[in-house]
Amino acid sequence: MSATRARASVQVQGVVQGVGFRPYVHRLAAELGLDGFVLNDEHGVVIEVEGDTEAVERFLERLPLEAPPLARLERVVAGSVPATGEAGFEIRVTRGGGEPDARVAPDAATCADCLAELLDPADRRFRYPFVNCTNCGPRFTIVRGVPYDRPNTTMAAFEMCAACSAEYHDPANRRFHAQPNACPECGPRAALVFAGGDPAAEPGADPVTAAARALLAGAIVAVKGLGGFHLACRADHERAVAELRARKHREDKPFALMAPDLAAARELAVLSDAGERLLLDSARPIVLAPRRAGAPVAGAVAPRSAELGVMLPYSPLHHLLLADTGAVLVMTSGNVSDEPIAYDDEDARERLTEIADLFLVHDREIETRTDDSVVRVAHGRTQLLRRSRGHVPAALELPVDCGRHLLATGAELKNTFALAKGRDAWVGHHVGDLRNYETLRSFTDGIDHFRRLFAVEPEAVAHDLHPEYLSTKHALELEGVETVGVQHHHAHMAACLAEHGRTGPAVGAIFDGTGFGADGTVWGGELLFGDLRGFERAGLLHPVRMPGGEAAIREPWRMACAWLGQAPPLPRVDPGSWAKVSELVRTGVASPLTSSAGRLFDAVAAICGVRTTVSYEGQAAVELEAAADPAEGGAYPLPVVDHGGEPLVLDARSTVAAVAAAVDEGTETALVAARFHNAVAAATARACALVAERRAVETVVLSGGVFQNRLLLSRTAALLEAAGLEVLLPERLPPNDGGISYGQLAVAAARLG
Ligand code: ZN
Ligand code: ZN
Ligand code: FE
Repeated sequence: MSATRARASVQVQGVVQGVGFRPYVHRLAAELGLDGFVLNDEHGVVIEVEGDTEAVERFLERLPLEAPPLARLERVVAGSVPATGEAGFEIRVTRGGGEPDARVAPDAATCADCLAELLDPADRRFRYPFVNCTNCGPRFTIVRGVPYDRPNTTMAAFEMCAACSAEYHDPANRRFHAQPNACPECGPRAALVFAGGDPAAEPGADPVTAAARALLAGAIVAVKGLGGFHLACRADHERAVAELRARKHREDKPFALMAPDLAAARELAVLSDAGERLLLDSARPIVLAPRRAGAPVAGAVAPRSAELGVMLPYSPLHHLLLADTGAVLVMTSGNVSDEPIAYDDEDARERLTEIADLFLVHDREIETRTDDSVVRVAHGRTQLLRRSRGHVPAALELPVDCGRHLLATGAELKNTFALAKGRDAWVGHHVGDLRNYETLRSFTDGIDHFRRLFAVEPEAVAHDLHPEYLSTKHALELEGVETVGVQHHHAHMAACLAEHGRTGPAVGAIFDGTGFGADGTVWGGELLFGDLRGFERAGLLHPVRMPGGEAAIREPWRMACAWLGQAPPLPRVDPGSWAKVSELVRTGVASPLTSSAGRLFDAVAAICGVRTTVSYEGQAAVELEAAADPAEGGAYPLPVVDHGGEPLVLDARSTVAAVAAAVDEGTETALVAARFHNAVAAATARACALVAERRAVETVVLSGGVFQNRLLLSRTAALLEAAGLEVLLPERLPPNDGGISYGQLAVAAARLG
């Protein structure tokens, strides 16, 4: 052994298994002339390299910098060990035993290499809808257990042919240990069938081409994707889109679109550079962006919406289908309104039988139903509205380690659950509305699945304070665990602080539909001062009655009645009903007080005549924002009432009165809506600045579902930044209730730590 010979031992944690990391290490070591080995263990990857001192240093420098695209290095610990004189470099077999917490990667869009093979007539995988490699393909959606190896995936049923097996075992090959590796000889197959299961394509015909032909002719086709079924039809086909809406019983919610390529996406929506990057991201989310004037889509795709949701093909099947049709397709979730999406072939054929004319299916099973993620750019930052396929189950970090394993059960609508161990947090896929039986089951199954995947044995469970949330009930039924109740809006604020690595203190403006308040009333327009552990209510929106409780969510005109007090009925509202609701407002019968900001937007939308009833929560606010003229700078009054102490009150009564007067005078809706948005933004910024000054902090969090309103968000954030304050926004988790579980974890970790 020469004196300049050195040996280093390196432990790498993060997403490093099943992403081509070991072959990468092998190549790098070979390039630098190093000896040693690499292997997977239960924590990630272990490497030892030996050789010239300088080469070993170079190796350690380059290791994190040139890692394969899907790898995510969370921790790299290197130390020197005595040289052994070992010659050659080898990839050793997986070391078993211990607890499995090596990371399962999220699903990833087809990579450029695989796409080239897919479209190359000379390649053995030409037009094979399941081509993949270690740099792309299904991961989380096919995993049944750990370690992440083929027998623990839904690919277990397929035995690799000699050619695939050779690739799989060759460290120099792009498919080395690519668990879903397959080819037309040995892998899954696609088929086009009718609802009854009978084949719908000629024997020997390409099922994708046959599906494309049907789509072009105006058919509705259920297409099996990575995490579930989509319902597809031509986006420019008025009759097909209207038919899909009618059959799905989906009245107004916009349909997502899949464009064949970036150029086609640009014709649909106005995309910033950041928006295009999101569109091309390997997570391939649905990107919401302003609709381009004259976008070639049917009217029923996204009625009254200023944005379109667009994505690019992410599975080889999508690539073929879009190439064969050459058209933009509606690709909406495969469900009947409000149900979870179908992901099992038989279940899909049963549930979607009245909706789809044909089913483009395949025999690779989906283990975990995973919806498309939804994202947009707001105030120059990424805003994740739904964090699911392509992101889950990547770990997020917590700023504190309480030394205990944690579970958080989240909210009730847009539910996600989350688990934590040390400083790692795993937020589950979008579960949805727990009040649906099937969804509730996928909630409990999902928690069990994640517990096994990441070896988490919860010792404490964090939950919402709402006693009727099914997620709360689930938490309280668990035996032998400590419970931590977390106030809803505090969880929103904590989630945002924690994802930015902060513990507080900070001021938070948390605006949403409703959440159970610390005092048992319905909150939703809150200014909080606090940190991860706790908070004080530093301000609130002036509370009004919510006439008839939940009914007021479906009928925004009720909120108009509550905000206007004893006023004559709005046009478009039955005077008799208005009189009854006025009575509820006066007496307070079945009408809890609420400080909800979401309900204020509902009231104003109703007064403006934008919408008096809704088919989904938040619709009135979405349409009010769409109606507002962003060029308008004027604002109605919205006083911040300061009694010299907290809580401050944002008294929007005069604002609502001004809106009603303007509407009476015949002022354009575009101006009224804009001046209302500006009023809320100005008052919120003023109140936050006041609290920040009194409490001597400089950080403001803006979160809650109402801040999915881009106009409100960007105006408020700009005013705060102009006042010299730092604004934190949710970027890696949704501002809506999808972010609650992670916030609950952060609070529990801080309190127990
Ligand atoms: Zn690939
Ligand atoms: Zn094969
Ligand atoms: Fe909320």
